[in-house]
Amino acid sequence: MDLHSQLQAAWSHATTTYRPGTIEFAAIILVQIVGFLIPASFYLLIDTLFPKFSQRHKIQDARRQPTRQQILHCVKVTLFNHVWSVALAGLMLSFTGLDHAITNLDPIVPPFKTFLVDFAFGLLAREISFYYVHRALHHPSVYVYIHKMHHKYTAPVAFAAEYAHPVEHLLANVLPITLPLYLKGAHMLSLMAFVLFELWEAAADHSGYDFLKLPPAEIHDLHHEKFRVNYGTIGLMDWIHGTDVVGWDLPKKNEIKRME
Ligand SMILES: [Zn+2]
Ligand SMILES: [Zn+2]
Repeated sequence: MDLHSQLQAAWSHATTTYRPGTIEFAAIILVQIVGFLIPASFYLLIDTLFPKFSQRHKIQDARRQPTRQQILHCVKVTLFNHVWSVALAGLMLSFTGLDHAITNLDPIVPPFKTFLVDFAFGLLAREISFYYVHRALHHPSVYVYIHKMHHKYTAPVAFAAEYAHPVEHLLANVLPITLPLYLKGAHMLSLMAFVLFELWEAAADHSGYDFLKLPPAEIHDLHHEKFRVNYGTIGLMDWIHGTDVVGWDLPKKNEIKRME
């Protein structure tokens, strides 16, 4: 039996055994654990168990790394964000009733080609939406109230990916990775596969390690170090807007001369 047939058999078993709301709630918890909590804990373990390897591969200097206490605080806040977002999803499911699905639970598993199309769509939609939400959060009139919190860790660790104000967590973390594919009507398995990838990517981007080339953690790490650079996730929107270089917002040399 090929991989798609195995997936179809498992999916048929799930959809005929459990109620739609139960499947969705279990999937939400599963992707949070597999996509974020396990990888983020793994990166944290590297710091603790292999300090020499860790020092060699940290993007930023050892003196800039957060203390054990700061990391513990970060883990607590991030876990809280996970708990309330899962509780919110549970509340939504309880409103609709466990017999009604919120997402597309078609009993037929889509072909892998559809997964790839959904993945590409989700990646692009996430890049565009996250870029503008993130840039808006950097606006001086709102920065101190919301996004300043996420920038507490100038040398980030994986758990810092979701160390954020609840408003930011919803607008910048949860919605850009879920809403586009939900509105597209993507199959729940496709949506969950994408969310799983994005959660892992967020943990990897904030891990502070240079050995990750896909995604290259240096891009978002630089955002934490220098603030006004690399607002997006894959570099596309920063390239379009020219915000992928440090100092893009400073006056150019000939402008300074003209001002003189
Ligand atoms: Zn960040
Ligand atoms: Zn930022």
